[in-house]
Amino acid sequence: MLGIDGCTSPENQSELSEAIQSDAIEAEEYPDSSPFDAEPKEQEIDQEPSLDRSSDTGDLDIPDDSEKLSYSEPAPSDLAIVQDIRPSFSHRLKSAEYQKYIVLHDTEGDSDPASVIDWWDSNGNLVAAHFVIGKDGSISQCVPLDEIAHHAGYGDTGHNEKYGLIEDGRDDMEGSSPIGSWASDYGMNAWSVGIELVHRGGEGDYPAAQLEALDGLIAYIDSYYGFESEIIDHKAWRSGNSDTSEEFSAYLENYQDHRRHN
Ligand SMILES: [Zn+2]
Repeated sequence: MLGIDGCTSPENQSELSEAIQSDAIEAEEYPDSSPFDAEPKEQEIDQEPSLDRSSDTGDLDIPDDSEKLSYSEPAPSDLAIVQDIRPSFSHRLKSAEYQKYIVLHDTEGDSDPASVIDWWDSNGNLVAAHFVIGKDGSISQCVPLDEIAHHAGYGDTGHNEKYGLIEDGRDDMEGSSPIGSWASDYGMNAWSVGIELVHRGGEGDYPAAQLEALDGLIAYIDSYYGFESEIIDHKAWRSGNSDTSEEFSAYLENYQDHRRHN
């Protein structure tokens, strides 16, 4: 879940509001309480993807916010992704050379994707994942693939090095603050795409339609960038997170191994 970091749904509103009050609260709660990870606030532009990697020489060029890209790669029609772009969720450019990971989350709620996105937009935290997948397999996208979304938040100290990430200033971090010495690394947002699955941990398996939609979405993201991003779940980035849940562990292994749930 974004929690204050993203994964969150309307029915979690009261708990989340409390959790949002203070980063200190979240740090104290770790690791055994709130599934809501705390985090950011802010806003930015709305640009988009460039599939042109021909100029990727290995030297990362930090894009200028004034450099508007055009979102030119439509999703395959069989995926039927609902575009529900919310510019306030974008935290600067993340063009293809910065893509390394797909981070999977659970919403820890039952609300459909549209309601989840509305909730993110209304709670003032400006935290969101790029995509939300409902139990029926419906997919909504609220952040373009070439823009940074705040979905992963702070990770365990040392995880930037573990995951090969650098904090290079592309992620503005506005509204965020460290949540404790145990989780002070902040590189993942700027190098990843976030996907939320509507699911509550401990409440049963993920429906086949939802898993099949995730299969298709991962294939689309792979195709979009032209390479396979590494697939992890949110708790790999920050230990103590609840997502993804135990019910997903076998699927996660499959995704990491062959890009599908089975
Ligand atoms: Zn999460």
